[in-house]
Amino acid sequence: MNQTQHKVIVSKFGGSSMKDAQAIRRSANIAKEKNSSVVVVSATYGTTNQLIELAQTARLKEWSESEKIITDLKEKHRSIAKELGADPDTLDHIESLLSELETLAKGINYLKDAPKKAMDRLQSLGERLSSPLMTVALRELANDKPVSNFDVRQVMRTNDDFGKGIPQIEEIRALCGKHMLAAKIGDGVFVTQGFVGATKEGETTTLGRGGSDYSAALLAEGIGADLLEIWTDVAGIATTDPRLCSGALPIGEITFQEAAELAIFGAKILHPTTLAPVQRVSIPVFVGSSYEPDAPGTWIKAQSEHQPLVRAMALRKDQALLTLTTPKMLNNFGFLSRLFGLFEKHKVSIDAITTSEISVAVTVEEETLSNQELFKDLETICTVQMEKGLSLVSLIGNNINHTAGLAQRIFTSISNQENEPPINVRMICLGASRHNFCLVVKTEEAGGAIKRLHKTFIEEAQ
Ligand code: ADP
Ligand code: ASP
Ligand code: MG
Repeated sequence: MNQTQHKVIVSKFGGSSMKDAQAIRRSANIAKEKNSSVVVVSATYGTTNQLIELAQTARLKEWSESEKIITDLKEKHRSIAKELGADPDTLDHIESLLSELETLAKGINYLKDAPKKAMDRLQSLGERLSSPLMTVALRELANDKPVSNFDVRQVMRTNDDFGKGIPQIEEIRALCGKHMLAAKIGDGVFVTQGFVGATKEGETTTLGRGGSDYSAALLAEGIGADLLEIWTDVAGIATTDPRLCSGALPIGEITFQEAAELAIFGAKILHPTTLAPVQRVSIPVFVGSSYEPDAPGTWIKAQSEHQPLVRAMALRKDQALLTLTTPKMLNNFGFLSRLFGLFEKHKVSIDAITTSEISVAVTVEEETLSNQELFKDLETICTVQMEKGLSLVSLIGNNINHTAGLAQRIFTSISNQENEPPINVRMICLGASRHNFCLVVKTEEAGGAIKRLHKTFIEEAQ
């Protein structure tokens, strides 16, 4: 194909789009129809969870318990491969990956330990097993171009933070230029693994749960793609998670900034960091359903003509609220800097924050509470109070911080509902961004808060 006419498309298919032979064929058809140059896949549905369970089982229980999970994983992948009519080379490749899986689990079982490095290697097998399956399905369709199963570790360079490797952008770009040129110029289709990376020394890493979206965006940036497509199990981004609220409506178009906030504040449809790479180089993103490829889906772009006050809402569970107090903060300086220094030292990210004259309230992931060292350090400069079981509810839109009366409407919406008790708000965050308003509420009340707010700001605003 002529290089100047060729539109370079990176298409990512998530776990539900890779569920079984039928779903993989359906996804391969989309990649063929769209003329994708790079096809990034997640592990088959549920496999990453099973691999994590396998590691825990191998560490804590009898080997026979692990064997059951291994047998299940083997049967799942072998039967999909058979149904897709995989060639002998692919079957051999799959067998060697399955025996690597068993060896790793045995190692964990012997050591009764699952270090992060081993966890990454084990979890990488989900995507390393699903990608040859997609390659087989696509080869059957794409006769005019060679389809290769490409090992993403050749290009997805990360640091050595096993479990959540940080991608090294410049190196990824250089490596993509070197190893993926054929995809860029339209001479071949590359099927590759999401979620998986490698350090400079070649050790396998992962990008964190849900990281395949991020991989696809990094590859799109790395090869200078014209379009990134995220194919999932819902027809694009909706005004809120359709599982939470039956009134959720599809969004046709949304800006990078709004979509990024939505992802960061908990919408599982996109991994939180997905949009950073494509936003850097302005590559448009399409989000659609592999089950309904002709549905309109969502376009994520730099600009959107329609700029509603509230476009969407997100929910982020498992939050803890830390209230950090010191009388020394009164008329003093440097406290916040020391405080943030401690969060940085312990690599803990703060999600929402408010401050008063003598105290600071921050929300963090609940799992942070197990970080004894952080708390020891914090207690040297302030008193620390903790609350668990909270969720962050966010309204995402435009001009949020410049709209008079918005806070009042929000509070009225969540408190005045017929026959239902008002929802107590533990903390609010407003003013820092024109794109969001956050509330912290008890997790058991969060779904209700979303439903009420959705009714007021989306359903009744239509
Ligand atoms: P994949 O396996 O394709 O990566 P995910 O399960 O990670 O898919 O993400 C898709 C899911 O995200 C949907 O099934 C839906 O429940 C959830 N979701 C959360 N927020 C939204 C939203 N605003 N719009 C659409 N889906 C959402
Ligand atoms: N398979 C990985 C996970 O389940 C990555 C992904 O699917 O995005 O977290
Ligand atoms: Mg996902």
